[in-house]
Amino acid sequence: MRSYVFPGDIDPAIMAIGAKPFLYMRTDAFSQINKESEQILLDLIHCTGGRTIIYTGSGTGAMSAVVENYVTTKKKAIVIDGGSFGHRWFQLCEYYGVPVVHYEVGFAKDIDYEDLERTVAAERPDVFLCQHHETSTGQLFDLGKISAICRKFGISLVVDVISTFLAEPLSMDEYGIDICITSTQKGLNIPPGLSILFFSKNLEGYAWNHKGYYWDFDDNFSNLRRGQTPFSPATILYLQLHARLLQLKAEGGEDKNIAHVRHRALKFREYCRKYGWDVPAEVPSYAITGFQTRDTAERKIFKGLMEKYDTYIMPGGKPGFYRVSHMGLQTDRELEELAERIHEFEP
Ligand SMILES: *Cc1c(COP(=O)(O)O)cnc(C)c1O
Repeated sequence: MRSYVFPGDIDPAIMAIGAKPFLYMRTDAFSQINKESEQILLDLIHCTGGRTIIYTGSGTGAMSAVVENYVTTKKKAIVIDGGSFGHRWFQLCEYYGVPVVHYEVGFAKDIDYEDLERTVAAERPDVFLCQHHETSTGQLFDLGKISAICRKFGISLVVDVISTFLAEPLSMDEYGIDICITSTQKGLNIPPGLSILFFSKNLEGYAWNHKGYYWDFDDNFSNLRRGQTPFSPATILYLQLHARLLQLKAEGGEDKNIAHVRHRALKFREYCRKYGWDVPAEVPSYAITGFQTRDTAERKIFKGLMEKYDTYIMPGGKPGFYRVSHMGLQTDRELEELAERIHEFEP
């Protein structure tokens, strides 16, 4: 099988951890692993003096946790809705009854940052929720510009970096981001099941809300002081995360990984040009390539790849629009072969 979805093909050494006996979680050894993972994660995202919470749960669980514990303490949120993930922030605010400014951005379009600033000046939200990369379309947003607007108006910035952590340059310190979210099945390239929250030092001692028992921040932080989790962690995934973080550190950190992701994206986009597939994102992220094919009626490409080659790519929200992730292991030759095979099934 070849996987160009999330998390893509994973290093066999990491996968092998899942086949071995694993340690009991209520031990010093597990606490040690957790604490070490926290430190490496904070270094990778440049969050000096910050904290993490690692949850057993997918990325949306962590998004929900942020709204329950933090966003509900605010008076008004603004959400960038440029696709299905941005829309999820909006739905979460509505679900928890947080007044929210719904700032919509067209499919694969960048934000009009001047218009955004005018909206912020008029609406005066106190918390800003966005994605770094709207994974449903491939569009990357400009965190430098967003962060400047947030600083100017004194707004707390929360960013879903689920699909850009380790795939795009990112520094919480530089952009003054209060909370970032990622999960294991994207840039970390290990199986799905854990999500990670990063908290800036700014939020130390914050009076969190208590609107969700399982995700409660205070409960999690107090357990984490001992390197523990309040409930049973997905132990194997925590071990895979730890091993992957040590590997990333040994291989040269985030910059090296980002360079690999970028190389694969640029390589695949050469074939998009060759076969005439448009990449609609105004500013495409390197994390994935979203491209438009002529396969608009029957998903022939998706089915053909799966049935003939045991290969998976992601269908998108529009007919004939597909996405290929660049966060899993993939060689130049494999990407060339993938493009040839997509072309084979294109009507
Ligand atoms: C993958 C992803 C998520 C989380 O989805 P889950 O299925 O809950 O892991 C959220 N936001 C973005 C931008 C994503 O790419």
